[in-house]
Amino acid sequence: MKAYRARLLRFDDASGQPLYDEDGLLVVGPDAHGQAVVRAAGAHAALIDRFPGVAVEDLRPRLITPGFVDLHIHYPQTDVIGAPAAGLLPWLENYTFPHESRFHEPAYARGVAEFFLDELARNGVTTALTFATSHPASVNAMFEAAQARGLRFITGKVLQDRHSPDGVRDHTEQSLIDTEALIRRWHGVDRLGYAITPRFAPTSTPAQLRGAGELAAKYPDVWIQSHVAENVDEIRWAAELFPDSASYLGVYGDFGLLRERAVYAHCIHLSAADRALMARTGTVAAVSPTSNQFLGSGFFDYAAADAAGMRYGLASDVGGGTSFSPFRTMLAAYVVGREGQTKPGLSLTPAQLWWQHTAGAARALGLEGVVGNLLPGCEADFVVLNPQATPLLARKTAQAHSLDELLFALIVLGDDRVVERTVIAGR
Ligand SMILES: [Zn+2]
Repeated sequence: MKAYRARLLRFDDASGQPLYDEDGLLVVGPDAHGQAVVRAAGAHAALIDRFPGVAVEDLRPRLITPGFVDLHIHYPQTDVIGAPAAGLLPWLENYTFPHESRFHEPAYARGVAEFFLDELARNGVTTALTFATSHPASVNAMFEAAQARGLRFITGKVLQDRHSPDGVRDHTEQSLIDTEALIRRWHGVDRLGYAITPRFAPTSTPAQLRGAGELAAKYPDVWIQSHVAENVDEIRWAAELFPDSASYLGVYGDFGLLRERAVYAHCIHLSAADRALMARTGTVAAVSPTSNQFLGSGFFDYAAADAAGMRYGLASDVGGGTSFSPFRTMLAAYVVGREGQTKPGLSLTPAQLWWQHTAGAARALGLEGVVGNLLPGCEADFVVLNPQATPLLARKTAQAHSLDELLFALIVLGDDRVVERTVIAGR
């Protein structure tokens, strides 16, 4: 067992409200299966006598928070970040597809996977739901790399059997055989999980989507990930291809791809009926604000999502997104919330933004009580943040009189320099 004395943030499971100790203690040790978990978390003065003889590392005035959970990211787009393009569809055609075509080569895929995981760790991200490419080799490379690091990590082979160039387009029947083989090989191994991954409805035939839905029914604890309602051109295209569906989101519903553990990036241009459908089926939105700003796609409507009872959490969407940093994503989410010209504007509190990228994101994945929080029993993935990482942050956080003021200073001014240590499974 080991203990850390620091400022300590975690969240109430039921309400999502922050629990905070200015002088906190986090005690970590193995559970009955040998997995490193949180044994206790709370005020130092209240807990220290319960753990005599346990080594305590004094990290004050640093802040310990749960490791960040990224609900939507593309590891093969690590090198596509910052590509200049005129919106989503040209960006896919001119940059993303040519780049992804290289991932049939295992050594190349492994090299990018290692760099990607280093970058997540540097930025304090301890769990991600990530796209691979359409090549099974890209999935194996990522799972092998994540397994070696002991990560709780989810990925899957992209399904795209039409409207895709040579090099990334797959074959309907083989793509479904490959997906099932990958589920059997990787899902539930150590801390790894599989996600059935149609790229987006326009690049899959009805037959491929139907097969994906059948696998989703056969393996109900496997995740589903895709994109929906990001961009008006994309929505028009989806409507042309699937004229019998009530909406773009409805296409996924018609093929059995809306359910618990189904995560859809963007969810910007939805109708009230769409939002009700998401809430009713337990489908989750991965809000990707830096990507939406970069590609000019639009603004996620928080008020409408809350009114419908939809679940959501934050995502970087690299390489459409412009940063691996949860601080950049939380700041962009704040800006998206404020935007009041196309939808009602509101002010998300710093603690709400933090929750959306930790405990809220974990809850969206069906992993509440497992990651994204530091309540007793949670897996010991956390970050040690230095509120004095830059001169301006040191000056600003010294004047913080509340948790919200401390967190907002970090959100607005912070980046990877703040992340002093990222702890995965207690290491
Ligand atoms: Zn994406």
